[in-house]
Amino acid sequence: MTHIITSLCLRDGGCVEVCPVECIVPGIPQGDWPWYYIDPETCIDCGACIPECPYGAIFPEDEVPDAYKAKGGEFISKLGQSGHYEGTNHHGQPVVLDCVRQLVKDEIVDLTPDIPENGRYFSEGPGYNAKD
Ligand code: SF4
Ligand code: SF4
Repeated sequence: MTHIITSLCLRDGGCVEVCPVECIVPGIPQGDWPWYYIDPETCIDCGACIPECPYGAIFPEDEVPDAYKAKGGEFISKLGQSGHYEGTNHHGQPVVLDCVRQLVKDEIVDLTPDIPENGRYFSEGPGYNAKD
């Protein structure tokens, strides 16, 4: 198994430093605020990254919800979304994203498409069209 970073990730990189096997890697866009992926070949399913994420974006692969019920106000980050997000990362540096959408309370979102997206990053390489 592996763990999966879902589209609830706001790409602040906070989980990267806690992974004991360094299997959380930045993808594209290269540079500021990339999407992050977890290498399924290396992840030891220790769960250390889960509490590190301020947005609850990381799940064990077999627990990624197909009907995530929004608390209201959280964001999903995917290509094709047109909202704007400004926050800070774990170092207090700005994170600015344009491909986000804010969820409304009790909205149901299927996060399972993020499972194959994670696999595609490693099988097809970093050049593929991420989170499309
Ligand atoms: S579960 Fe553990 S090994 Fe896997 S990505 Fe998270 S911190 Fe790394
Ligand atoms: S800590 Fe959460 S929001 Fe930050 S990069 Fe990791 S999964 Fe994304």
